Amino acid sequence: MNDHNEPDLTQEQMIHDIAEYELGFIGFAETLNIARTVLRQKYRDMSYNQLVKAYNQVLEGIQMRCKACDVLLDDLEALKKDARGVHYDLCTDCLTVSIATHWELENMTEVDIEDSSGIITQDDVLTLQENYDNIYLSISKDY
Ligand SMILES: [Zn+2]
Repeated sequence: MNDHNEPDLTQEQMIHDIAEYELGFIGFAETLNIARTVLRQKYRDMSYNQLVKAYNQVLEGIQMRCKACDVLLDDLEALKKDARGVHYDLCTDCLTVSIATHWELENMTEVDIEDSSGIITQDDVLTLQENYDNIYLSISKDY
């Protein structure tokens, strides 16, 4: 018998049937795992350049942008919320300006110059807002 190399149609049919049968018992988690393996393989098969391109496209798609100046937000900026839990969706520069305007702080500078008095830095503004948020949260959570 030389049934080693010849494709056996009955065997193929059996494989097909038993696979279909098993499919009926695969739960969601398993399906997810199988799909994950297939997806990872797809990216493993890519060249490094293709991979980087795909990676950047995905990142671009999920990356948040500042709603004022459209710059890409870093992770911290994207997560920053106000006291009511609403995302600012602003970069640090625009957020600072927005807060400073809200508090009518005019002599603000964007650079942190060695603590010269009278000049409010970006950090000062953000700290001020954070303190305000904390106070707001501590007085509003009881109601
Ligand atoms: Zn901005």
